[in-house]
Order: sequence, then C-alpha cells, then structure tokens
Amino acid sequence: MRIVVGVKWVPNTQAVRIDPETGTLIRKGVPSIVNPHDLPAVEAALRLRERVGGEVIVVSMAPPPAVKGLELVLGMGADRAVLVTDRVFAGADTWATSYVLSRAIQKISAEIGRVDLVLFGHETIDSSTSHVQAQVASWLDWPYVYYVSSIEPLGDNAVRVERELEEYEEEYVVELPAVVSIAIKAMKPRPVSLQSKLRAKLERRIITWTNADLKLDPRCVGLKGSPTVVAKTVDMPEVPRKKEVYRPRDPKDAARWIIRKMVEDEKLREVMKGIVGDEL
Ligand SMILES: Cc1cc2nc3c(=O)[nH]c(=O)nc-3n(C[C@H](O)[C@H](O)[C@H](O)COP(=O)(O)OP(=O)(O)OC[C@H]3O[C@@H](n4cnc5c(N)ncnc54)[C@H](O)[C@@H]3O)c2cc1C
Repeated sequence: MRIVVGVKWVPNTQAVRIDPETGTLIRKGVPSIVNPHDLPAVEAALRLRERVGGEVIVVSMAPPPAVKGLELVLGMGADRAVLVTDRVFAGADTWATSYVLSRAIQKISAEIGRVDLVLFGHETIDSSTSHVQAQVASWLDWPYVYYVSSIEPLGDNAVRVERELEEYEEEYVVELPAVVSIAIKAMKPRPVSLQSKLRAKLERRIITWTNADLKLDPRCVGLKGSPTVVAKTVDMPEVPRKKEVYRPRDPKDAARWIIRKMVEDEKLREVMKGIVGDEL
C-alpha cells in the first residue's frame, strides 16, 4: 500500500500576527515545527505499512526551511518526502493549498507509483480550518472520512475505519483510493532518535518540486489563486479572569458553590433568568 501523509510546517505558536495590509500570516521571526496534529497520521501510516508493506511518502507544501520538519518525519520511519515549494505558492488560502497538494499527489501517483491512501492530521495549530483534507479529496474525487480513531487494512482495496464521536462510534469500510484524517488522540507518535534523524538527513530522501515540476497555472495557485478575502482583522480583547479556585471534596458542595457564584454575578444572573425564569 502506498500511503501519502500531508504534513504542515507551522509557526510554533498560536499567536501568529497577520499583516493588516494583505491579511496574510507574518511568519518572520516565529520558530516553526511540524504540526503536532499530523504526527498521529504519520504514525498511522507507519503502522499500516508494518502490517501490509508498501511505502510511506510525506508531502508538504511549505517554504524550504520545512526540510527540517521532513527530516524529523523521515526519522520516524517514512520512506521519502516531497517538499512542494515555490514563491508562486505563497499566500495560498485552503483552496489553493489543497489544489497544489492534490496535484502533487497525482504526480506521485504518475511518477512514483499508484497512491492508495492519503492521510492527514485533524487540523493545524496555526489556521485550524480542517478544510484542506476535504478539499484534497474533492479535487481528487476520492472518498473522505474524518476524525478517524483507528484504521485497519481490509484486503488490497479497502480500509476499515472507526470514528469516535461524542455519543457513539461509527465504522466505515472505505474503498481505496481514499483520503482519511486522523484524530490527534488516535495514536501516540513514536519517538525519533537523533541517529535516525541524522540518517534521514544524510540519505537525502527529500524530493523538491517547484512549479516548474507541477506546471500549474500561476493564476490558480498562491495568493492569485486564493478566492478567500480577509476583509478585516480584529484583536480580541483579553477577558479579565477572577482566578478563584475552590476545592471541595463533596460534588454537591461544588455544585452549590458554582450556583452561588453564578447567582452573585450580575451578568450571569441575567443569563440564568433567561433560562430558568424568576425562580432564580
Ligand atoms: C487569504 C488567506 C491568505 C493566507 N496566506 C497565507 C500565507 O501567506 N502563508 C501561510 O503560511 N498561510 C497563509 N494562509 C493560511 C493557509 O490558508 C493555510 O495555512 C493552509 O491553507 C492550510 O490551512 P489550515 O492550516 O487551516 O489547514 P487544515 O485544513 O486545518 O489542515 C488539515 C490538514 O491538512 C494538512 N495540511 C494543511 N496544510 C498543509 C500543507 N501546506 N502541506 C501539507 N499538508 C497540509 C495537514 O495534515 C493538516 O493536519 C492564508 C489563508 C488565507 C485565508
């Protein structure tokens, strides 16, 4: 089974600034890491390969420093990585990002070998839209299942996946090729030794593709190919917290304390009255 895993190189903070002029992220000066949500997807791919054989290829659309992140994922055990990088891809929204990723996956299929399964993380820590996976599936016209907690091979042409939702579990048999996103708690990513990271660096298993390789219309990628318009950005005011802690042993005491606090708070009292009426 040939499995492609999408991995994003993200700023190591949720507090990224946005350029008020262009509405795009300002990455300068912010250290980057592999998106933590993507590591369980890499782990899932490695476990599948251990069971049925095949190849795990990691793909990232990112600027060149993302090589460091790809070395980490190769150190985990991925067979090779494709870095899709070009100035013309900069400023992409999720539509343009997923378009480029889907075309890179098609190129992998055409030049390296048929891709059976594409795995993604559940979301990123910098933009967190969870759009990219569904959009890639849509560009490829493949089925998509999200928030998957376990994935099992089922013969050569299908996988069985489970989703753990709040009140129930779902199970699907998905015909391949397909796109699946893995929930962050689904599996613990294996640790990476310094030795395996160094080996990944020396073995140069990272292929770099620019738009000269993908040959996409520049009007369909990057900022030009992004229909999203950031009309306005607003800094959210910090909400002052009272920072009160109460540690009762008895849950009834805890409930009474919470209700008393809610009744004492004028604003909350109004909200509660709207719910329970004058009985309050
Ligand atoms: C108008 C606009 C302009 C933007 N400009 C910029 C910009 O200049 N620079 C910038 O960095 N971002 C920019 N962004 C954010 C950009 O859209 C997102 O970084 C990108 O599309 C991924 O979306 P997401 O982070 O919400 O991913 P999600 O949809 O939350 O990601 C889901 C999963 O998809 C995979 N994935 C996501 N992105 C990638 C990737 N690049 N490579 C491989 N796998 C991936 C991962 O497995 C991830 O877990 C812009 C967004 C908008 C709306």
